[in-house]
Amino acid sequence: MTASPAEWPYPVKNFTCHMCGNCCRGDGYVELTAKDITAMAAHFGMKEPEFLERYCTYHKPTHSWHLIDQDDDLQTCIFLTDDNRCRVHGAKPEQCEGFPTRWRSSNIAEYCAGWRAMEGLPPSDKRTI
Ligand code: SF4
Ligand code: SF4
Repeated sequence: MTASPAEWPYPVKNFTCHMCGNCCRGDGYVELTAKDITAMAAHFGMKEPEFLERYCTYHKPTHSWHLIDQDDDLQTCIFLTDDNRCRVHGAKPEQCEGFPTRWRSSNIAEYCAGWRAMEGLPPSDKRTI
């Protein structure tokens, strides 16, 4: 009997992040849970309304809060540093925490340096640093 292919998005075990920062840039958004907002506001020692006002935008169609970006050409997340670190690492949103081992886009091999290495693919020219 042949095993059926793992269902997308199949879990991965041997992934290593190469810190290219590409998953924190570009199209898409980080949708925040209530728990994320509480944790990130506490991380900065801010009240939640102040945190939302400064770093988030309300997305009416989904009735949810999203992180804003740095208003640059690469659509860089507001919390990504110049050396590709996350300023809220200790209180990272659930969505970010789950990428790419629990969820990922189907074109991940186009932009994720760690994923390409795991698959034995050469580095991508889409690397942004
Ligand atoms: S919150 Fe951190 S991990 Fe999530 S997109 Fe922004 S910089 Fe990246
Ligand atoms: S795109 Fe992949 S390798 Fe690059 S920072 Fe994100 S998880 Fe790490």
